[in-house]
Amino acid sequence: MFKHINPIFFLFLFCFLSIPLLSQVITIDSHIDIPFDYMENPQHDPGKITDMQVDLAKMKKGGLDSGFFVVYVPQGPLDKAGFKKAKLLAEKKFLAISKMTKTYSNQIGLALAPEDIIQLKNNNLLSAAIGIENGYVIGEDLSLLDHYYSLGARYMTLTHIGHNQIADSSIPSKRLNDEEELHGGISAFGKKAIKRMNKLGMMIDISHISDKASLEAIKLSSAPVIASHSCVKSIADHPRNISDELLFALKENEGVIQITAFANYVKVNNDRFNSIISLGNKVAKLYGDKSFNPSLHSNKREFLEGIENINMEFPIPDIDNFIDHIDYVVDLIGVDYVGISSDFGGGGGISGWMDASETKLLTRKLKERGYSSKEIEKIWGGNILRVWKRVEDIASNT
Ligand SMILES: [Zn+2]
Repeated sequence: MFKHINPIFFLFLFCFLSIPLLSQVITIDSHIDIPFDYMENPQHDPGKITDMQVDLAKMKKGGLDSGFFVVYVPQGPLDKAGFKKAKLLAEKKFLAISKMTKTYSNQIGLALAPEDIIQLKNNNLLSAAIGIENGYVIGEDLSLLDHYYSLGARYMTLTHIGHNQIADSSIPSKRLNDEEELHGGISAFGKKAIKRMNKLGMMIDISHISDKASLEAIKLSSAPVIASHSCVKSIADHPRNISDELLFALKENEGVIQITAFANYVKVNNDRFNSIISLGNKVAKLYGDKSFNPSLHSNKREFLEGIENINMEFPIPDIDNFIDHIDYVVDLIGVDYVGISSDFGGGGGISGWMDASETKLLTRKLKERGYSSKEIEKIWGGNILRVWKRVEDIASNT
């Protein structure tokens, strides 16, 4: 009977059926930090009611589908003992993320490929992908890239604060007595690491690295790169933010910048920032600790009260300030090269998006700014998934 039906009807039917799938918004936050006692301390168990900015209940409430949970390790000395310690710390966090997805497999799954994120969403499950923050954790052993990839790492931020064995940081470490530059960009070892990451299909993250190192990384990489949590330098002149020159290079490379909700990168206010640093040190001292540790001190009464006072003195940037950065990237290089990250658990949080439960407000504000559903789909997840897929395809063809 179908032979009498115009084939164009089928085309219409096909298009109609495909549209909802293609325009599905998947909300992906590309940078969520976790504490070192994740899944050990009940307060840091995301399946329970917690005071963390991201837990499973908050993700569901805010409609946050997916996140890159981050294996962050602070910069230490560039020697054997330092590298060994960094590896142990990294493995602890990998284990904790894996434990989360196993313990709460009825709510969240581990995403090892872009398709997993779509599949898990279609099954009404949240998803967790993994990124490494600080290439320090591979020491001088390239085979550790393969090891971490096998544990689920799908991006690696090349440095954190402080130069490491891979590249120069955008912020030299005072604590480690860093000079302005160590390598003048990417080190000889760093070049090999980039090559290995390309081969594995691990995304190269230029957030935190110096401008020179970023341009070099983009040139060296045979695949698109990401800036997993950075803002725009032309709006907020901070060394952690991305210059116009780099944005153009990112477009040419078909990569993506994930605008981040870290207050001082959204709107630079060093008085505010320094007040928070000295408050942190004061609270740490009060509890007999050497330095501020977010997972130990950020929920202490003294810290919360102090933050309230600081917020009154120096108002915290809001979602509109945040979207100004997205608008800027869209105007300069287009809507295909921008995404979203919170840096929750690592100092992130702006007025209106203080934790994952408030995520819907951000989507509403994007609509109010005139972004179409198709554009919001790209900004919230489509762009980073495209980059991830491309990085995988290039890896399998080399
Ligand atoms: Zn960071």
